[in-house]
Amino acid sequence: MTTFGEELVFKALYETFPDPVIILDAGRVIRSANPAALDKFGYPVDAFIGQPARLIYADDHEYARRLHNRAAGVDERIARTSTYSYIRRDGSTFSGHLRTTPLIDADGKELALIGIIRDVSDLARAVQEKQQASDMLDAALDAMPEGFAIFDAQERLLVYNRAYVTICGPAGPLIRPGITAEEILQIAQENSHYPDALPDSPDWPAWMAHRMQDFRQPDNRAKIYRYADDRWLRVENIKTKDGNTVVLRVDVTELKRAELALERQRQELQHKNEALDQFTATVSHDLKAPLRHISMFSEMIEEELAAGNQEEVAASARHLRESARRMTRVIDSLLDYAQIAYQITAWSEVDLDDIVADTLGVLGSHAREADVTFEIAPLPKVHGDPELLRRLVQNLVGNAIKYRHPHRRPIVRVSGRAAGQQVELVVEDNGIGIDPRFALRIFEVFQRLHQDESIYGGTGIGLALAKRIVESHNGSIRLDTGFTEGARFVVTLPKRMRKTR
Ligand code: ADP
Repeated sequence: MTTFGEELVFKALYETFPDPVIILDAGRVIRSANPAALDKFGYPVDAFIGQPARLIYADDHEYARRLHNRAAGVDERIARTSTYSYIRRDGSTFSGHLRTTPLIDADGKELALIGIIRDVSDLARAVQEKQQASDMLDAALDAMPEGFAIFDAQERLLVYNRAYVTICGPAGPLIRPGITAEEILQIAQENSHYPDALPDSPDWPAWMAHRMQDFRQPDNRAKIYRYADDRWLRVENIKTKDGNTVVLRVDVTELKRAELALERQRQELQHKNEALDQFTATVSHDLKAPLRHISMFSEMIEEELAAGNQEEVAASARHLRESARRMTRVIDSLLDYAQIAYQITAWSEVDLDDIVADTLGVLGSHAREADVTFEIAPLPKVHGDPELLRRLVQNLVGNAIKYRHPHRRPIVRVSGRAAGQQVELVVEDNGIGIDPRFALRIFEVFQRLHQDESIYGGTGIGLALAKRIVESHNGSIRLDTGFTEGARFVVTLPKRMRKTR
């Protein structure tokens, strides 16, 4: 030092220092600037020296912050607090990290302030880009409908998105970094978030243990759990190499509902198929009986003709004709039955009084012949298909007349009442009655308790038809087995219909 002189050394340092060095006086006026400063800011020396320090700040607010930091003695080693936006003469800007050193005289008075500005534009840009990427990631995660979270090896929550908070239900408001997976599960369980592990169910501890086990040692298979409000969630936990656990929660309610609906439909279809199988078996059996008779009588005619028994032929031919007629009746009634669709399209308000009056009109001559006394009470209104309801009443009243007692004067009573959301219609007679053992069978196709048609004619479709009509109205029909004076049928119909079945 002694050989060169300190001043020379400092001057050389100042001149060659790569970062801008600017010296301000106490009034914040630029008193000196090294070549790097002049170069960086693009000023000739005359236009720079003598200017206020404010000149190099791009933004008034930032300059105010700078003054505030200075007054507050902020630690300038921290780049975050001491980086400002600087402006060149040509208007372009750069980010600079400012570090200052005051020049103090012997009395402790501040003579000047030496400031060194390091261009940190690249760094600032990198930080900004990183921040942008992170913001973008956050926004993307929040936009995801799937719940997403990461827990560390100690099972503490590190990262999560908005959907995850929602999915946590009652634990949602308490979700914050650091909360453990077990705490979240517990809070949600205690607040009835899991229908399969409600607080008062004895199964909840086992259920919770199972959930925690799947969190701690996931088997890499997604599970589907029921959540509150009838929702279904697909739960997937994945362990990463560094011991973290990534959890994914996907709402699969719609899928699950569709699956359940499909399963219901499948079962319904299976029942219908079984019913159809049974139906076809019955139908083919009952159609075969008259056919057998026809072939039997035609063989007999053949034999009688061969044997020259002319007088027997006429009787066999009559039997043959009767069998053919019966077959026609069976086919007709079957067609009738098949045409009643389960789906009703012509809904209207129907007055049962009118329906019964119509029926008595239709069955009038038959009833007079049998000398029937009708006792008809006032009837309520229902919602339904008038044509179908007419056929229902006709079948029931027709049977009541048909199955009258040989030694009693027939009485047919029709009554009804509205009970809550339902309407009851009762048809009873003082006829031969029905053995309670057959209370269900009589409603099946071709089930007759009287095989001898010469006494009570019929094909065994009437009550099956009645049942189908009632069911298509979402109602029910039953034989009152407690009634012993004759037969009593009770029909229950909803007052107002659901339009779909
Ligand atoms: P069908 O009258 O053509 O035989 P249904 O299906 O109407 O067929 O009735 C089935 C069976 O139920 C009848 O064969 C009969 O034995 C019995 N049944 C129906 N209604 C009455 C009634 N009011 N009284 C006595 N028995 C009845």
